[in-house]
Amino acid sequence: ERKALSKLRKAPSRTLDGVEIRLWANAESREDVSQAHALGAAGVGLYRTEFLFLQRGELPSEEEQFLAYRDAVLGMDGRPVTIRTLDLGADKADATGLAIEDEPNPALGLRGIRLCLAHADVFREQLRAILRASAYGPLRILVPMVTHVEELLACHRLLSECAQELAKRKVKINQLPQLGAMIEVPAAALAIDSLLPHADFCSVGTNDLIQYLLAADRGNDALSSIAAPSHPAVLRLLAHIFESCRQAGKPVAVCGEIAADPVFAPILLGLGLTDFSMHPSSLLEVRRAIREADLGALMRDSNRANFGLLPPSQHRQH
Ligand code: PEP
Ligand code: MG
Repeated sequence: ERKALSKLRKAPSRTLDGVEIRLWANAESREDVSQAHALGAAGVGLYRTEFLFLQRGELPSEEEQFLAYRDAVLGMDGRPVTIRTLDLGADKADATGLAIEDEPNPALGLRGIRLCLAHADVFREQLRAILRASAYGPLRILVPMVTHVEELLACHRLLSECAQELAKRKVKINQLPQLGAMIEVPAAALAIDSLLPHADFCSVGTNDLIQYLLAADRGNDALSSIAAPSHPAVLRLLAHIFESCRQAGKPVAVCGEIAADPVFAPILLGLGLTDFSMHPSSLLEVRRAIREADLGALMRDSNRANFGLLPPSQHRQH
């Protein structure tokens, strides 16, 4: 079994009917990056930066962050690395004193980009570190917990200000990296058309999206059957996200846990997903599922099951 899988290290991630699917890696350590590279990941689709902030009493410096991000970029050797800006709060509590302690509803609290915009000095430090790392290879920036378009606009503004600050320090940035939005708040998913003009790409965080959509705590084991990704509301919302991105010509990936599930892969393929991001340890299993999938048939089944929302005219007839 393991031997059969390891034969797929160099195999293309292509469906039976010949469609190329991109498998990206989620990473948060040097080991993850080197495994991703060795298994032929298309790039790093989600580089979680919280590890630099967790389990310590102080904030990491710009220099420390720069070295970590540069390591990831160099480790992927020319394949793109998607650095997610700090997503502290809720299940990712920190000891740096940044996130509010004892928030009554931390999952609905000041987390992700909300927390970063409330601590713009800390956020700028991270953005400068990311910008400096972008000189060493292809790098993209991904913003967590986007709810309002203004949050993306603030990120664009801060990013160009940081590039100017670096220019004053004689650190040259050729080009601002692409900026993407995580789609993990139901409002962002439903109103994705308002975000897409300001996002170069999207990545769907299904761990949080399912938690918020189904009102089921992602960390509560007693709810595992309730937090089901196969709920029709989840499938319809995913179909809406993928189709909106397709129409806008913006790349979209799924980087939540469901992208790592080979049993769920045919469903995501049928809904039109072409980019999956997962921990490298699942990459070969998902690649095998993709190589066994008939994409045309899956898409026809998916249409027949009507996972997409009904067009408005059909609603009116009822
Ligand atoms: C998600 O929410 O699905 C996700 C990928 O991010 P995290 O698990 O880090 O919240
Ligand atoms: Mg998330």
